[in-house]
Amino acid sequence: MAKLFLVPTPIGNLGDITIRAIETLKSAHVILAEDTRVAKKLLDHYEISTPVKSYHQHNEHKITEEIAIRISSGETTALISDAGTPGISDPGFLLVRKCMEEGIPVECLPGPTALIPAIVASGIPSDRFYFEGFLPHKKGRKSRLTAILELDRTVVLYESTHRILKLLKEVNEMAPLRQISVSRELTKKFEEHARGTAQELLHHFEQGSTKGEFVVVIQGVKG
Ligand code: SAM
Repeated sequence: MAKLFLVPTPIGNLGDITIRAIETLKSAHVILAEDTRVAKKLLDHYEISTPVKSYHQHNEHKITEEIAIRISSGETTALISDAGTPGISDPGFLLVRKCMEEGIPVECLPGPTALIPAIVASGIPSDRFYFEGFLPHKKGRKSRLTAILELDRTVVLYESTHRILKLLKEVNEMAPLRQISVSRELTKKFEEHARGTAQELLHHFEQGSTKGEFVVVIQGVKG
């Protein structure tokens, strides 16, 4: 019976892919990719010639049903995103839910995702944590941040280059004593983990670079 495979891909370092991920991508009938140009780089590197179709936040609502029908008719499908694990702040959930409704087997391979190396290397308790993903950019941002800063466990956020200083300023106002670890450009040439209070990190990033991708790990209320 055909399946849906969710296949994690590297978050920056092409070497971070499992043997099984490569085998799964090679043996699938079709690969669904968030951005086919990004996928091509990875697939060319590993000499994977499986046909690629695009599946992203702008077409997922439209084509999810059709994909489920194709899998049901025998087309084993592998879903990848631009980086990391599909379904984690990336498309994936809608298709998984649809496959379950249709009785299609779903398998997610273990592999790269940005939140795990960031939390494990943070020095902040990693036994229990709350993953928020991205905060809303504008509407509802303050109330989400207020709510998560009240949690008694470590909080993990994704943030972009455009808003990292804004986030640190917000946390500095709301929780100035909290320990924070900011991981920038994980697995890439300029990988960096900066730790301290929001004020210390603001100082650090105002002097240094705010280019790239960020994971922010914040100590919980009693952490
Ligand atoms: N699916 C991905 C995963 O499993 O981590 C997340 C995709 S989400 C669209 C992209 C965000 O993940 C970035 O804005 C950043 O917050 C985080 N991220 C992805 N790669 C990263 C990296 N190499 N270093 C730091 N953060 C990264």
